[in-house]
Amino acid sequence: MKRYNALIIGSGPAGIFTALHLERFGVDKIAVFDQNCYPAGGLLNDGKLNFDHRIGLDLDELGIDPKTAREYIQQIKSVLTGFPHCRQVTFAKDNEKIAGWERIARERNVQFIGPEQWHWGTDNGKGVVDYLRGLLHRTTFLLGTEVKTIETGNGMHCLICRENSGMAEYAGPVVLAAPGRKGAYWFRDVARTVGIHNNFGPVDVGIRVELNRKFYDPVSDVVYDPKFILRTTRHQDKVRTFCTNPGGRVRIEHYGDFRLVNGDALSSRKTANTNFALLNTVMLTQPFSDTTKFGQMIAKQFHLLGGGRPIVQRVGDFREGSRSRQATFESEIRHFTVCRATCRAVPGDITLGLPARIVDNLWEALKTLDKIVPGILHPSTLLYAPEIKFFDTHFRTDEFMETNIKGIFVAGDGTGKSRGIVGAALTGILAAQGMAQRYLGKDKLD
Ligand SMILES: Cc1cc2nc3c(=O)[nH]c(=O)nc-3n(C[C@H](O)[C@H](O)[C@H](O)COP(=O)(O)OP(=O)(O)OC[C@H]3O[C@@H](n4cnc5c(N)ncnc54)[C@H](O)[C@@H]3O)c2cc1C
Repeated sequence: MKRYNALIIGSGPAGIFTALHLERFGVDKIAVFDQNCYPAGGLLNDGKLNFDHRIGLDLDELGIDPKTAREYIQQIKSVLTGFPHCRQVTFAKDNEKIAGWERIARERNVQFIGPEQWHWGTDNGKGVVDYLRGLLHRTTFLLGTEVKTIETGNGMHCLICRENSGMAEYAGPVVLAAPGRKGAYWFRDVARTVGIHNNFGPVDVGIRVELNRKFYDPVSDVVYDPKFILRTTRHQDKVRTFCTNPGGRVRIEHYGDFRLVNGDALSSRKTANTNFALLNTVMLTQPFSDTTKFGQMIAKQFHLLGGGRPIVQRVGDFREGSRSRQATFESEIRHFTVCRATCRAVPGDITLGLPARIVDNLWEALKTLDKIVPGILHPSTLLYAPEIKFFDTHFRTDEFMETNIKGIFVAGDGTGKSRGIVGAALTGILAAQGMAQRYLGKDKLD
């Protein structure tokens, strides 16, 4: 059995920032495990960075105040913006145009957030990962190593892993689980075996909207990834925009037995469109609280309806209550050519796969947004479904992300602690502090 001082599961932003901060505390012999052969997790994606504690974090959940959060975010910013291709895309400080958008949104009872944002683009993802790895000197990456389970006892934890050469075991006094959204359900099963407390959190269900960028440029030229948040009048549910990609593409994410839509942008090549997610937060109580199964049920229904692909519907068809069809998808007479789809989804009817309450909420939100940014509801606008964010397992922890099992910490999106790169990194820093101070005898930064 090989021994390390700290065992980190997952090489996404949460895992990498944990390792970086453990090193700053003077910890050595750190191991980062990833089932993929290239480390990175979601760092390989688009790379829009929101340096603002109002985005991607729940400070009450983390038990920190805004001032402390700002200090951590500043530390993360100094690391990530050191990557040469990372450029600032939203200048939030004293920006009167942002104040103007806040005012226009408020008139419609919508909250508008225009945070400081930077971007590197999917085509720079590998460069970022190489840059971050270059900052780590006392960390070993065990890649192509899938952690199967965790065994605990006598103040030590042991990861049982599958590697190319077969099974291997690694032991250490502290473990961080940062498995991301794709590893969330694996870790939830392990947590239940080990006795780590967790329960169901909310799930975000919605669509990806793609439109000719000329309609959205007035707002996205001011704020690259604008955040509109509202409560619908009919159901009083929360709906928000998320992950806007000016000049971007709609992408398909592959999960075991279903597909989801998402979006990104390249830094070098732009499309004529902008896309963003429109998400409805769903929380379930009695008698069925399993938000994971709820989200999966919707995703599988779309998988069936779309013959294995996501579904896309033109706003023009949606308004008429009819499905979109291949034959009329590019109809000039209906002005559909104003927006050419960047993703090969199946023309159909998104209302067949979404619960009525969610359709109500999304449509109300779109109509409100169209009053704030006229043109969103042009007939050519594309509505792709399903887009679902499975941040739905919640782990109870203390302020250093330590679970009820001593020495086992969690961080990042897969454990319900963050939603995005900066948030995941922040939770990794909190965990690193707890690991270093409580178990590794390191009280001060080197
Ligand atoms: C298309 C797309 C675009 C996105 N764009 C943005 C964006 O612009 N800005 C933004 O802030 N966020 C964006 N995100 C979200 C962002 O990627 C995540 O918020 C972030 O990566 C979460 O970090 P994490 O460290 O929690 O997990 P991840 O980055 O997902 O890393 C988890 C890692 O754990 C590994 N792992 C899981 N289980 C195991 C196991 N059993 N054994 C070994 N390894 C395991 C996985 O292989 C993975 O590498 C995007 C996501 C997608 C899919």
